[in-house]
Amino acid sequence: MKWTRGVIERKQVWADGLFTLEIKAPDVAEFEPGQFLQLGIEQPDGHLHRPYSVASPHGEVLDFFIVLVEGGRLTPHLWKMGVGDELDVSAKAAGSFTLSHCPDASTLWLVATGTGLAPYIAMLRTETPWQRYEKILVVHGVRQGSDLCYQEELAAHQQQRPGRFTYIPVVSREDVDGALRGRITHCITNGSLESAADQELEPDCCFMMCGNPDMLNETEQLLGKRGLKKHKRKEPGQIVVERYW
Ligand SMILES: Cc1cc2nc3c(=O)[nH]c(=O)nc-3n(C[C@H](O)[C@H](O)[C@H](O)COP(=O)(O)OP(=O)(O)OC[C@H]3O[C@@H](n4cnc5c(N)ncnc54)[C@H](O)[C@@H]3O)c2cc1C
Repeated sequence: MKWTRGVIERKQVWADGLFTLEIKAPDVAEFEPGQFLQLGIEQPDGHLHRPYSVASPHGEVLDFFIVLVEGGRLTPHLWKMGVGDELDVSAKAAGSFTLSHCPDASTLWLVATGTGLAPYIAMLRTETPWQRYEKILVVHGVRQGSDLCYQEELAAHQQQRPGRFTYIPVVSREDVDGALRGRITHCITNGSLESAADQELEPDCCFMMCGNPDMLNETEQLLGKRGLKKHKRKEPGQIVVERYW
């Protein structure tokens, strides 16, 4: 893999172990929102790197929305880093979790758990989703209210695109004003997600989902019962998935 130099310009801590690194990495090649880069550091036993969705469109400074994984190898190092620290960033992005791999439809569902929100933040900062889809919904599933990040930015989209954008936070472990209570799958089953969205889960949509593999598998099963299936170039469907582990 070819590496370029990245320097941390800003670190935003949203909650303990939940943070965004803004990394100046001007030599990264042009990419499409939704793609991922590798972040890495040199360790005594070799180069340690992992993939991260870029939470911003291409530019001189790139955002990464990261959660500290207890017992993980790389994230404890990333969590300790601060402004001015250097790390390796892969020169070329990869991945097909992008709008160019998505079907046309009236409605775009952007569904995430945890840091799976990152690719959508990047996409929504460009004109592409707004030009292609009449209605866009962001569904963000987290454990605690304090894990609901990027709320101001999402609220700004709602203000700037009245009637076209809906943000639905879903919190599993506590009651939070304005959020649905439970897991995303639970909110699909009991109908509360569709009520909050004022929108049915029906096939005239593109349904992107990203994050925790259990949520992805269970949601795909539930959507199957509504006539939605994986989107493939030769066999068009609605569901486009990014698995984080
Ligand atoms: C395409 C892609 C994009 C990704 N984008 C992001 C991103 O934008 N932000 C981000 O935080 N992570 C992202 N990840 C996950 C990331 O690559 C690492 O797996 C994660 O940061 C853990 O690295 P680690 O070395 O600390 O843990 P490791 O020592 O590699 O341990 C890995 C284990 O940690 C657990 N794990 C991995 N990711 C998470 C997570 N997000 N939450 C809870 N448990 C987890 C899993 O059980 C996994 O088996 C992405 C993964 C993929 C494949």
